[in-house]
Amino acid sequence: MSQLAADCDAINLSQGFPSFDPPQELTDRITYHLRHGGNQYAPMPGLPELRKAIAEKTRRLQGRVVDADSEVTVCTGATEGIFSAIQAIVRPGDEVIVFDPAYDSYEPSVTLAGGITRHVPLSISDDGFDFHIDWQQLEATVNDKTRLIIVNFPHNPTGAIFSADDLNYLADIVRDTNIYLLSDEVYEHIIFDGKSHHSLASHDELWPRSFVICSFGKTFHATGWKVGYCLAPSELTDEFRRVHQFTTFSVSTPMQHGLADYLVSNPEFYENLSAFYQQKRDLFCGLLRETRFRFTPSRSTFFQIVEYGDISNELDVSLAKKWTREISVASIPLSVFCEKPFTGTRLRFCFAKDDATLADAVEKLKQL
Ligand code: PMP
Repeated sequence: MSQLAADCDAINLSQGFPSFDPPQELTDRITYHLRHGGNQYAPMPGLPELRKAIAEKTRRLQGRVVDADSEVTVCTGATEGIFSAIQAIVRPGDEVIVFDPAYDSYEPSVTLAGGITRHVPLSISDDGFDFHIDWQQLEATVNDKTRLIIVNFPHNPTGAIFSADDLNYLADIVRDTNIYLLSDEVYEHIIFDGKSHHSLASHDELWPRSFVICSFGKTFHATGWKVGYCLAPSELTDEFRRVHQFTTFSVSTPMQHGLADYLVSNPEFYENLSAFYQQKRDLFCGLLRETRFRFTPSRSTFFQIVEYGDISNELDVSLAKKWTREISVASIPLSVFCEKPFTGTRLRFCFAKDDATLADAVEKLKQL
């Protein structure tokens, strides 16, 4: 869609990347390390300083004491973390449960490991906007072959979040099984309306079977850096590192130095990120009220789902392309995240853009 947006000179609210720069103190720290000898291979699990800073953040925000040496691994973006965790744990014939709409890298990674992906659709509330796990359906899908369940909250594309109760429901389902959990928490710091993020790492019963994957790309407006990390108990981290070692070995050294410095010196940046994006969300949703889309404001991430049934009944994929060409605003059709179409007439817009771009986009959408 980004390519089509570029070809059509359309405003690109499709792919999820910010239009603003990372904080300057952070890029200054990276530049410093680039110029002062931080340019050779980092240790395979990640720079000790960065792993320590991640462990401290996890203790402070999620109340989980993780061992920086044996339970934190820096990886090449969340994508590598997801891939390495899946290769570490999934064997041919194993089943892996994902919830649709699901991020696109899960299934190919499972297939490559010889696993079978079972898609469980998220349920949609009666008003059509609240996506959540149907726990009964999950329970009915779990069987002896289930090896891994992948969850992603805050959720791309719907903005759904996990509550403390949700963690308990999940614990009820995996109790007395050998099922592992992979929790994609790349939007951990973007959550609105005073709610907080409940990591699987925070839950005493879930943590021992969890790989928690995070990314600095979303947190520091730097999706192109591809630096993320995996938290997992030491036995799982051992397995994870067996794959990570021969997938990428280690991650860019100056980036890791700079991130380590900045995490310690400027925690306010990620602490204020939710407020920053909530203001964007409110601006975008305020403008969208002047269009014929139906929606409720996103609860998290930098994505807004809209329902376009009052404007068109066309399939979301063809409509997203048509509006990119004809209205010059690119979006992502929700059905591309799903095995079977069930999300109906819905599109995803990314609002991680400067205010003028959001206003220009909605001005165009008002024509519909
Ligand atoms: N998971 C989700 C849900 C995402 O939205 C993304 C990025 N679009 C990723 C993983 C990948 O993150 P990274 O760029 O750090 O590999």
